[in-house]
Amino acid sequence: MTEEHFKKIISHSKEFGFIFPSSEIYDGLSATYDYGQNGVELKNNIKKYWWRSMVQMHENIVGIDAAIFMHPNTWKASGHIDAFNDPLIDNKDSKKRYRADVLIEDHILKIENKINKEIQKAKKRFGEEFNEKTFIQTNQNVLRRQKNIDSITKKMENAFNSDDLNSIYELIVELEIICPVSGTKNWTSVKQFNLMFQTELGSVSGESASIFLRPETAQGIFVNYLNVQKTGRKKIPFGIAQIGKAFRNEIIARQFIFRMREFEQMEMQFFISPGTQEKWYNHWKENRMNWHKSLGIAEESLRFHDHIKLAHYADAACDIEFKYPFGFKELEGIHSRTDFDLKQHENLSKKKLRYFDPEKNESYIPYVIETSIGLDRMFLALLSHSLKEEELKDGTFRTVLSLPYSLAPTKAAILPLVKKDGLSEKAKVIFNSLKAIFNCSYDEKDSIGKRYRRNDALGTPFCITVDYETSKDNSVTVRERDSMSQERIKIDELSKFIDSKVNMNLLF
Ligand code: ATP
Repeated sequence: MTEEHFKKIISHSKEFGFIFPSSEIYDGLSATYDYGQNGVELKNNIKKYWWRSMVQMHENIVGIDAAIFMHPNTWKASGHIDAFNDPLIDNKDSKKRYRADVLIEDHILKIENKINKEIQKAKKRFGEEFNEKTFIQTNQNVLRRQKNIDSITKKMENAFNSDDLNSIYELIVELEIICPVSGTKNWTSVKQFNLMFQTELGSVSGESASIFLRPETAQGIFVNYLNVQKTGRKKIPFGIAQIGKAFRNEIIARQFIFRMREFEQMEMQFFISPGTQEKWYNHWKENRMNWHKSLGIAEESLRFHDHIKLAHYADAACDIEFKYPFGFKELEGIHSRTDFDLKQHENLSKKKLRYFDPEKNESYIPYVIETSIGLDRMFLALLSHSLKEEELKDGTFRTVLSLPYSLAPTKAAILPLVKKDGLSEKAKVIFNSLKAIFNCSYDEKDSIGKRYRRNDALGTPFCITVDYETSKDNSVTVRERDSMSQERIKIDELSKFIDSKVNMNLLF
């Protein structure tokens, strides 16, 4: 996957009503995007699949929907007020602000690109005999560059692990990293910057209190865990799931919907007895990886990345990374959060947050395993995986969005072959009979071939064409997106046929 593919994803998203820049008529707002008429359908389907997999399919997991605003002490207890920071550096000439770690990572990326170019060049030169693995292991230029990457990564990790901001600054100077805007190396020192958005509650001055837009949905679950446990008569182990918006004042917000200031998370906190965290951590790692694979995402595009530096609340943590067009990046986090959050809330609220375990006949603060996936990053992963240019037998190309059928925004497009001779009316009757069961569209504009192409690009699994035969045999032509094969199907068998292909249950 390449930068070109990434550009294509962005333009396709806009052209086909998936994602628009926010408030575009005012030239947009950086790192903020709106989901369009097809984007919202795909997004809702991802949410639905996640919710069904996590909540409906687990008798011991329930969902909640907590408020975005929370008591400010929540963020004191969770550590976000003191420790939710990014290391920042300013360029004195351009006055632009950057994340110090990202400047270094970008520098590493440039070296990686050089290695890739070297590989591509050799591939061309040696043709079929080329063995990439051997080339990487033996080519002196590649080896030298890889050694350089390893050394920079090690220095960066050491500096971050010891919170040594000065060493990060020194590394930026040593690597002679320049500001992409001013082109100079005139840097300030590195400082920490809190990522939470702050606002005021109450309209009368003097009576207001500072509150924060939640930077994660998890805390809404923690503060409600006893409410749910008691009212739901839940026994440990049990989980609470939630989907909702989160806000972070990201300094470098780019890479489209990968890193936004307002985004959506799908999180589940699984409450367990102390000492069982390793078992459950491994259980959820496997469960979540299988969830991604169930959507047909290729195994080589997914990998685990274990955290070296653990967050203040975790005793084990990893990411599920997806191979985005700009490289492997975090899609989902799985964290063994110990009893940190509940303990902190107990201390600050002075309310007992213990669970009485009838089997052990004792009270304790549960441990927690968290699975936390960014809905927008999942959306981008699906687009990256699905958007394809396919060469057809006749040498022409088609753009196809090969989303899993059950996630496609529209399941069937109802298309009269032509607008006249009563075909539109017949097609509308079919549309009206199917619309309550599936998300369908009706389209009579342009030639049938163009309408097929348009629906391929939207990811629509089935095109249903009403033609002159329809009124004679009560059948329609059903064209399938992936195989492009066409078959005649009786109108009264349509809904059963479509359901047998697009039902979400097929993913489980
Ligand atoms: P990153 O290292 O990329 O900033 P993170 O480790 O801070 O991410 P978590 O705090 O673990 O992320 O949040 C859980 C999930 O929320 C992430 O795996 C990601 O999918 C999503 N997420 C986090 N920040 C953003 C963002 N700014 N925009 C979109 N999604 C995000």
